[in-house]
Amino acid sequence: MTTKHSGKRKRVVVLGATGSIGESTLKVAHDIPERMEIVGLAANSNAEKLAAAANITRAKAICLVDERKIDILRAKLEYQPKIFVGGNGLREIARLEGADMVLIAIVGTAGLHPALDAIESGKDLAVDSEHNAIFQCLDGRASEVRRIILTASGGPFRETPKNELAQVTVEQALKHPTWNMGPKITIDSATLFNKGLEMIEAHWLFGVEMNQVEVVVHPQSIVHSLVEFVDGSQLAQLSHSDMCFPIQYAVTYPDRLPNRLKPLCLATMGQLTFEAPDPEKFPALRLAREAGTTGGTLPAVLK
Ligand code: NDP
Repeated sequence: MTTKHSGKRKRVVVLGATGSIGESTLKVAHDIPERMEIVGLAANSNAEKLAAAANITRAKAICLVDERKIDILRAKLEYQPKIFVGGNGLREIARLEGADMVLIAIVGTAGLHPALDAIESGKDLAVDSEHNAIFQCLDGRASEVRRIILTASGGPFRETPKNELAQVTVEQALKHPTWNMGPKITIDSATLFNKGLEMIEAHWLFGVEMNQVEVVVHPQSIVHSLVEFVDGSQLAQLSHSDMCFPIQYAVTYPDRLPNRLKPLCLATMGQLTFEAPDPEKFPALRLAREAGTTGGTLPAVLK
């Protein structure tokens, strides 16, 4: 892929390189080598997959948290990167000298300390698709915002009656209708818990009050979020759902580069629909709003 842009080449560390977001990040790095270099890779215990990713990217540093798998990692490596191990190793690679950006693609709270380390050592962090959409719509005009409206697909149980929810299985919850993601976030999407966390993230990232952040269910996952300005005008970001897009934009910002994203044809889409989330079926939104409004450590407890 060629580009007219000549922006800086970002040196990126990927924590959670063996997961769904990690894979998308490696695809993006493969597509825009002139703008993105993978300098660090980390995983929890999947030594084989980490070694395979390292052999392709030739990252100069790698980290495996599970020390028991370190021999497998060493045996599979075709070159000699610097190797970090354990939870402390994860924190060290998050501070990797010479890296510009750290992409935290780890599930749960294990990413918290490395995220703080990355921030403290001056690295940029990459963000989620909804927040990427909001960032694009805001375009630096945060003080003129009336509302931020996060879209949610509604997950696999959007149309399931409330009284049947107690019988749903894990397999059903893992079948997300529009996004292909790792298991934790897929389950959190089925309950809209993930959207609750995104509400709190939007509150902090964009400096708006919790009561200015709303959620609308949009089953087609084409509108990735909207911003309403004080004059009543709403801006939205639309595209097919593919995490490679927000990852690439986070790396190349403010430039936009060609990518593999399928062009969006609204005439073919036919309908984009929106509905209010059912507060009875999805209490996670209310809990997140309460936690975000209360503040302190309550949002961390919620997560
Ligand atoms: P996956 O389950 O696919 O991957 C998780 C990754 O984290 C793996 O590389 C895993 O390593 C690593 N990991 C797990 N536990 C630890 C640990 N204790 N220490 C270090 N590494 C660990 O998750 P996703 O890629 O789906 O999600 C990653 C993050 O991105 C989550 O926070 C999610 O909410 C967020 N996100 C994901 C989206 C998606 O489309 N998938 C969309 C938006 C946000 P190993 O393979 O060795 O176990």
